[in-house]
Amino acid sequence: MCATKTTDVPATVAQIEALRRAGADIVRVAADTQADAAALAEVRERTAANLSVDLQENYRLAEAVAPHVDKIRYNPGHLYHHQTDIPWADKVRYLAEVASRHRCAIRVGVNCGSIDPEQKAKFAPGDRLGPMLASALAHCELLDRLGFFQYCVSLKDSDWRLVVEANRRFAAERPDVPLHLGVTEAGMPPEGILRTQWALQELIPHGIGDTIRVSLTVPGSRKHEEIEAARKILGDIAAGRRVEPPPEEGRQLTIVSCPSCARVENEAFVALAEEVRQMARFAESYPITIAVMGCRVNGPGETDSADLGLWCGPSKVHLKRGAELIGAFAYDEILPRLRAELEALIARLENRGPGA
Ligand code: SF4
Repeated sequence: MCATKTTDVPATVAQIEALRRAGADIVRVAADTQADAAALAEVRERTAANLSVDLQENYRLAEAVAPHVDKIRYNPGHLYHHQTDIPWADKVRYLAEVASRHRCAIRVGVNCGSIDPEQKAKFAPGDRLGPMLASALAHCELLDRLGFFQYCVSLKDSDWRLVVEANRRFAAERPDVPLHLGVTEAGMPPEGILRTQWALQELIPHGIGDTIRVSLTVPGSRKHEEIEAARKILGDIAAGRRVEPPPEEGRQLTIVSCPSCARVENEAFVALAEEVRQMARFAESYPITIAVMGCRVNGPGETDSADLGLWCGPSKVHLKRGAELIGAFAYDEILPRLRAELEALIARLENRGPGA
């Protein structure tokens, strides 16, 4: 996926071409405004890549972008943000109609951090799997009823084990629906690559998965590394090579961070993620998750399940403890604040004792 501002057409085309040269078959570009849609028309003129558009908040943009792309990706959870008086099923009907008219495919992109609130309400708090699956299945059922069959589904989480479980269960119920696989917010290399490989090697050899994405927190100039990693993982799986997670995996410090996209509000986000990793090395042996996200749209939701979360705005970084917001701090103030929270969390873990 491109991490450029879509309105910066030269930069977007350059990144698309860099991804293609690295071996990408499909490149996703974000569109959230009419200006993005107009830019996408120009991008289409300048590249022969298969383009998928990420409809972010504004599903009504489908009409403007569909003529320029091959696939439309929508997130069921985001259909609740605009025109809240219109039922989600009517919005999907509209999307399917636009996609049919322009011969586009659709991806129903279900994401752990932005789950359909209606589905979430039906499950116990903290259940991440149930709402994801229910949301995906409900959208498939509706698209089928509408007679729109050119769609695929993705079920992404930042926990690679949940990605495996969600996709296994979905494939058991709907083996006819193509699946796009990926671990969202997999983090920085090499951890981000490994987490993705651990998930994909449990799925692809069993016939689950049709397209893949490796999401890495790297600067835009290194986005090609996502494709190189994806090709390497596929090569390993084809050759029967596995990479096993270490025994302590999941019981140690985990840093999840988003791969960045057109929404990133401050380019300093990628460097900050790396600084967090360096700063937190002292906490490596504790079972703590820190999430670092690049924007205010998905950042707040996608940090909720981490022990400590950061989401980056244009000039401030918001620091969270679980779902609770602690405060917003300047980029040059955030690391000591995070360190203090981390030390307090470790102290609480140690005071609880081994039997707690
Ligand atoms: S958290 Fe925001 S910036 Fe990061 S990938 Fe998701 S939408 Fe893009």
